[in-house]
Amino acid sequence: MFNLAEGTTSITTRGDSQGEKISPPRILQIIGKRYNGVKAKAKGRRMNIFVGLSLAFSFIFELNLLPSSTIAPFLSDEIREVKVAIFVDEAVTFRERWKERVSQILSQASLPLEKHARLKLVPAQWEVWKPQQKFSSFEEAAEAMEEDMPREEEVMAIGLIARRDLPSRLFGFSLYQQGMAVVRFTDNEAQTRRALEHELAHVFGAVHTVDSASVMDLWNRGQTLDALNLAIIQHSRERGFNRFRFPLPKEKREVILSLYQEIARLIKRAENELGAKGLATLKEAPNSPEDVYLNMALLALENKDYEETFKAAEEALRLNPDSLEALNLMGIARRRQGALDEAIDLYQRILQKKPDYARVLYNLGIALSKKGDLQGSLEAYQKALAIRPRLVEALSNQADVLLRLGREDEAEELLVRALSLNPRFPLGLANLAEVYFRKGEDERALETVTMALAYDPELAEAHNMKGKILHRQGKREQAMEEFKLAMTIDPSHAKAAHNLGNCYLELNQLQEAKEYFQQAVTISPGLAEAHEGLGTCLLLLGNIEEAINHLHQALALGLNTVAVHLNLSSAYIQKKLWPEAAEEAKKALALQPESALAWNNLGICSFQQGEIEEALAQWRQAIRCDRKSRQALSNLATLLLAREKWEEAAATYEDLLKLEPDNPVNYNNLAVAFYRLKEFKKAWDCLQKAISLGLEVHPGLMEAIKKEIRR
Ligand SMILES: [Zn+2]
Repeated sequence: MFNLAEGTTSITTRGDSQGEKISPPRILQIIGKRYNGVKAKAKGRRMNIFVGLSLAFSFIFELNLLPSSTIAPFLSDEIREVKVAIFVDEAVTFRERWKERVSQILSQASLPLEKHARLKLVPAQWEVWKPQQKFSSFEEAAEAMEEDMPREEEVMAIGLIARRDLPSRLFGFSLYQQGMAVVRFTDNEAQTRRALEHELAHVFGAVHTVDSASVMDLWNRGQTLDALNLAIIQHSRERGFNRFRFPLPKEKREVILSLYQEIARLIKRAENELGAKGLATLKEAPNSPEDVYLNMALLALENKDYEETFKAAEEALRLNPDSLEALNLMGIARRRQGALDEAIDLYQRILQKKPDYARVLYNLGIALSKKGDLQGSLEAYQKALAIRPRLVEALSNQADVLLRLGREDEAEELLVRALSLNPRFPLGLANLAEVYFRKGEDERALETVTMALAYDPELAEAHNMKGKILHRQGKREQAMEEFKLAMTIDPSHAKAAHNLGNCYLELNQLQEAKEYFQQAVTISPGLAEAHEGLGTCLLLLGNIEEAINHLHQALALGLNTVAVHLNLSSAYIQKKLWPEAAEEAKKALALQPESALAWNNLGICSFQQGEIEEALAQWRQAIRCDRKSRQALSNLATLLLAREKWEEAAATYEDLLKLEPDNPVNYNNLAVAFYRLKEFKKAWDCLQKAISLGLEVHPGLMEAIKKEIRR
């Protein structure tokens, strides 16, 4: 008596930002430079679906189709006991002996599951639901009931609603992903039982079909489960009941998808036959004919096969042009393919028909934030939350946007609220870990992200987050393992790829680093940090043109950091483009006036353009900013020596040798300075040191010092 499936949501979060420095020093005679590398950001997503269904009793024709092949799994004798939380509205409790009657209906309705799939439903929790708000339909009430009533993990839910003020033709409704069946509780117990039987089958993956004997029949003609749906239920027997995770493991999805395809063929055939007879379309059947395509789209989505998702949803829309869920799935597919405007259009089309559709508002929020419209996205989440205050995914995403705007305290507040509503919300925990990480509370961050992983070991985002914390704690190897895990779970995790690139850059394994950065840029061309990493890597590999190109892209994408300007300045130095190099060094200094590296680069540019006094001043400034700036010390010392400023040259070499005690060239040059200062004994010692470190010293210099000492 109704159709309409409900919203598939997707959730985004961020991981990110590790502000580590990578500085393999390069010193070329007079020119010194250093490179800094920086950070990453990340996004992950999950989804939920609500599949709606219906019941009615009208008979059209007989179709006796036998399925061409039915794949039934081997079933052991072992019974799986599934704990069930039973939620009833207050109106149910006004009936006499209500608990007894509900128990009886449940045990009857679950008999087919017990008999054919060895599933035993065991009531483990009873609650009375007293909602605060009003609802305009049965489906809305069912969804709100699911959100309002907490239950333990791996517990299925059954809702019974007796109130009569919900205008809807529905007898029942199921939320597939959440593992919940909701039915109307009426005085007609046979009808309630039958509705529950139908909804319970949906919870285990069954879809509407064309089979006059089946309880899943489009026209509600049958009393038993058809072979195809039975096989689907049997394959789904081990399904999970965790609100935040897809219920079916990968290995089950393919066989179930092929069973859905069989049912889709039956439906197509029925459609053709009806058409040939000039009869009504399938759309007029009491149960929604597009059901099977929605489930196919959902599986394709979980398999990250977005084109298949779109096609299946399109077919659903053809069968039922009113299917908002079909549009929603199309929007999600397009959004994940990066076609953001198309996705936003699809969501707007849904909202025109149903402005209060919380999950679609929520999905719109995701698309807008991906597009960079952070304000618009915040508004969309707020609207969703005004309708569904307990939609923890919306709270978490809103926090994500606030984090991006640097509003950490507000983000923390929202996440704490989300977790008070559902302490087992893995993405919320991962995002909260990000807040702590940003506040420098690493221990707390690690604790929080570990909890997230306990609830969902396959949450790529949480692995990336954990990697970042470990990295900052100096545990690079463990961090790299986490980043790699994130990428195994989600090969399109651009930020994990970027973070791995950073780790390899630190290890000076440039080829590996380049590959990971390249991967990050390919996955997410808008990720500025990945362009920066790639540019830095290419710079170190000597591919200067390409390096400049990527560093410029990072800037164009809004990454205005000291590191980008410094590296760009170094790249221009390599290309001997002195004014450009100086310009970038100055931009770095505008952001960080105490940057020794920038002063050093600026000195190089001045020197190369013949501005010797400026160069001296700039290198001295570099050393004032950082007494341990080897490049500046080395450059300054060499220039002082060339300018015959022996005393300052000697002092500078002495400072440099404290940092580089094993560099024979420094000893050699210091020996020259001492010789000129007539400190021959010191000059001799330095020269001996240079020789012992393997330098072939100039024989003339050696002779000259020897002569002076003998004298
Ligand atoms: Zn149904």
